[in-house]
Amino acid sequence: MPFSELQNALNERAALGLFRTRRMLSSPQSPHIVVNGKSYIAFCSNDYLGLANHPKLIAAMQQGAQQWGVGAGAAHLVSGHFDSHHQLEQRLASFIGRPAALLFSTGYMANIGVVQALVRKGDTVFADKLNHASLNDAMQLSLANVKRYRHGDLEQLSSMLGQTQSGRKLVITDAVFSMDGDIAPLRELLALCEQHDAWLYVDDAHGFGVLGEQGRGSLSHFGIDSKRIVYMATLGKAAGVSGAFVAAELAVIDTLVNHANSYVYTTATPPALSVSLLQSLQLIEQGDSLRVHLHRLIMKLRNGLSELPWQLMSSDTAIQPLLIGDNLKTLRLSEGLRELGVWVAAIRPPTVPQSTARLRITLSAAHSEADVDVLMGALRELAQYF
Ligand SMILES: *Cc1c(COP(=O)(O)O)cnc(C)c1O
Repeated sequence: MPFSELQNALNERAALGLFRTRRMLSSPQSPHIVVNGKSYIAFCSNDYLGLANHPKLIAAMQQGAQQWGVGAGAAHLVSGHFDSHHQLEQRLASFIGRPAALLFSTGYMANIGVVQALVRKGDTVFADKLNHASLNDAMQLSLANVKRYRHGDLEQLSSMLGQTQSGRKLVITDAVFSMDGDIAPLRELLALCEQHDAWLYVDDAHGFGVLGEQGRGSLSHFGIDSKRIVYMATLGKAAGVSGAFVAAELAVIDTLVNHANSYVYTTATPPALSVSLLQSLQLIEQGDSLRVHLHRLIMKLRNGLSELPWQLMSSDTAIQPLLIGDNLKTLRLSEGLRELGVWVAAIRPPTVPQSTARLRITLSAAHSEADVDVLMGALRELAQYF
C-alpha cells in the first residue's frame, strides 16, 4: 500500500510550512469564538454582516424545519423543489434586478455547473489569474480552451479576446477577489465583452450583501446591468446561511436547469435553509447601518496599521490582507496572534501565488471598534519580534 508515499508527500508539505489542519469551534460563528476551550477574537470568517448566528435567522430555520421537515429528499428536477426554494429564487431575482434566479447547494457547485453548461470544447474561457479556485476548476472541467489574463489586465484580455475567432467566449471573474479584497473593473470588463460579443460571468461571493445599494452586490456598486452578465453570489458568507444562486436571463436559467450537472444530479438543499435565507435577505436589505459600521471598521484598520513592517494590500472591502511573503513567517505570526487571543488565518500557496503568503484579515459588522483595537495592538506588539 502506498501510505508511505502519501506520508512522505505530507512531510514535504509540512517542511515548507504548507501542511493544512483544521481547528474546531465549540461556539457559534461570531467575532468571539471558543476553540479548544479558549476564547479568541476572530478576524477570519466571511460572515460580514454577523448574520450566521442571528436570532431571526435561527427562528426562521426552526420554523422552516417545523413546516417542511429537515431533508429535501430528492433533486430539484425530481421531487425536491419546494415552495420555499421557489419563493427565495423569485426574491433573489428581483433583489438583483434580473428576470430569473436559480439556487445551487454551494458556490463551488454553482461555478462548476454554470461554466460547464455555458461553454464546451471549442469555446474559450478568459479568466483573471487570481480568480477563486472553484472558477479555475470549473473552466478546466468544461473542456473549453482556457486563457488566463494577468490580474486586472484589461489590455491583455482585450488582445486575447481579439485573437479568438471561433466558438463562444466567456469572461469569468471574481467581483471582489477572495484573497486580495480588491474589486474587479466590472464596467470595463463588460465593455470589452460587448465589444467582442462575449459573456461575462461575475462571482460576487464577497460583494453580495456588502456592496451596492441595500447590499445588492457588485453590479449595483458599479451601477451596471446587461443581459450578457451571468451573476453568481454565495449565501454562506454575508447572507450567513449556506448555498448560492445565479441570476440571469430566463434562457440562461433554463439552460442551467437542463444542463448544469451540479444542479441536476444533486439533492436539493433543505427547504428550511431557504426559509432562513428569505429572512436573511430582509436583514441585508435593511442593513445599511451594518454596512456603515463595517466600513468604519475598515477605515479604522487601514488608518491604524500604516506603521507596521508589513503592508495591508490595496483593498476597500472587508477583506484586508496583510502581506507577509514567507510561508513559515506567516504561520509564526498567525500563531503569535493566537497566543495573544487573536485569530487570523494564514493564507499560503497554492491558495495564493508563491512568496505572497499573507494574513487574511476579514472584518465583520459584528466586530466592535474595541475588537479592532485589540487586533492592531497585537500586531504592533508582534512587529517588535519579527
Ligand atoms: C467562497 C467562494 C466560493 C465558493 O462558495 P461556497 O458556497 O463556499 O462553495 C466561490 N467563489 C468565491 C470567490 C468564493 O470566495
